[in-house]
Amino acid sequence: MIASRSFLADHGVVDGRLVARARYDVDDAGDIVAAGTAASLQAVPLAPLVRDFGRAVVLPGLVDAHSHAFQRSIRGATHQPGSDDDDFWSWRTAMYEAAGALDPDGVYARTRECFAEMLHAGITCVGEFHYLHHRVDGSRYDEPDALSLAVVEAASSVGIRLVLLECYYERAGAGAAPLPEQRRFCDGSVADYLARIERLRERGVTVGIAPHSVRAVPANSLRALARYANEHALPLHAHVSEQPRENEQCAMEHGCSPLQLLQRCGALERSGGFTAVHAIHVDPADRALLAGHTVCACPTTEADLGDGIVPASDYVADGVALALGSDSNTVIDLLQEARWLELGDRWRTRRRIRLASSTVGQGERLLRAATRDGAAALGRAGVLGELAVGRKFDAAILDRTHPVLRDVPDAFLLDATMLAATAALVVHVVVAGQELVS
Ligand SMILES: [Zn+2]
Repeated sequence: MIASRSFLADHGVVDGRLVARARYDVDDAGDIVAAGTAASLQAVPLAPLVRDFGRAVVLPGLVDAHSHAFQRSIRGATHQPGSDDDDFWSWRTAMYEAAGALDPDGVYARTRECFAEMLHAGITCVGEFHYLHHRVDGSRYDEPDALSLAVVEAASSVGIRLVLLECYYERAGAGAAPLPEQRRFCDGSVADYLARIERLRERGVTVGIAPHSVRAVPANSLRALARYANEHALPLHAHVSEQPRENEQCAMEHGCSPLQLLQRCGALERSGGFTAVHAIHVDPADRALLAGHTVCACPTTEADLGDGIVPASDYVADGVALALGSDSNTVIDLLQEARWLELGDRWRTRRRIRLASSTVGQGERLLRAATRDGAAALGRAGVLGELAVGRKFDAAILDRTHPVLRDVPDAFLLDATMLAATAALVVHVVVAGQELVS
């Protein structure tokens, strides 16, 4: 519990609130041993090493709860008109081409580029929803976990924390074998998939269980995956109702909605254990099923793909936590994702101030989605996502002298940060007390 470094800044978040003259004392393991205002810690001597960020805003390291890193490689490449009905499904064709072109070195290189951009954007932990597992024809590499390990190596070479959300994929749709371009996603059986999970866990990789969607995974497999996640207290993530077509197909196959099917299969059994990614086309009764769980919204991707708008304020009213993801990585900026959670809801409802409450301010609420609630969705509650005693000192430090924030009164600084700043203002990034970006 002995601090080896003290970090200081004109402003910083402590226990979810922005304070002036913030101070964090951090030990050799990167854990925060004291946090507060300089005045409140006056009686505690500064640590041997002192880093003063000066005119800056210290935020908890941002947590990106849903990413497909390789999709960054088609940034800008899918915006030419192709047909009269360019939509999610036509985009998917281009994305599958990119997925089919990668060998293990390519997965490592593309993932590393993406994670490096994330770290520079203040993201210190990423949940990578990883679904490239085998050769393009579906056959195994000599090292059967080559592509998962490429992602792990990419993260460790950059220094970003990783929760590897290993995706399980089985079919193209109800009763349909995988398409040729989906073969490399597929393990063939839940047992083969869980064997890989076990091998990765033995290597010390932090993993989550990620059935791709009710489209790609039949009910009996969903049940087995949910059981494993519940038994081992691992985060369970799935894409849910991103497109209306998924709801229609699920109704035809199962006679219920995707969320009702997930509930029947045990995915919602462990409180806080499930994260529904997107969850856009969900009716009110189904929203209530998610109480105590998390919806991971990915607003820039959902806008890019024409998916629709996550009904964020409705979820908050139903007791559902909100996390954020950069998903396709067409944009890597968690501050923007947070902002569009609120602005999308204003657009949708034609009202203002949707996610703040009498006790939690707008900026605090959006920051929580970009940090604490993302960490919880990734199974890292109480460890990451907050700047408080006992948590890791992971931080994104923004330049207060930048024109965006320079003239903002202190009283509005956190709201301005969350509603006007971008990742371009991030000037330092710290992971476990180590300054990785400066
Ligand atoms: Zn996704």
